[in-house]
Amino acid sequence: MAVMQCRPSCGACCIAPSISSPIPGMPNGKAAGEHCIHLSLDWKCNIFNDASRPKVCADFQADDVFCGNNRDVALINLTNLESDTK
Ligand code: SF4
Ligand code: SF4
Repeated sequence: MAVMQCRPSCGACCIAPSISSPIPGMPNGKAAGEHCIHLSLDWKCNIFNDASRPKVCADFQADDVFCGNNRDVALINLTNLESDTK
């Protein structure tokens, strides 16, 4: 899988996938398709540089296979990936 730079103001991976580890303010993580409460209105992580940001978020590596050329593609790809890996 090719490494790419995370696209600014995308946040698709903060919406489409479920996250099972606790997120500050979301102790049970989040469901697939649910917006993380830390995702700002302009699709940025409000706790990006905070130590409380879940490890799973920091570990998520942008990948052009999933992230595509725009956030709509990323939302579709990551939603499909989520249902494929259920
Ligand atoms: S879906 Fe990909 S490009 Fe978009 S925010 Fe997540 S890692 Fe970055
Ligand atoms: S904590 Fe930040 S990086 Fe993690 S899902 Fe929420 S908004 Fe995205």
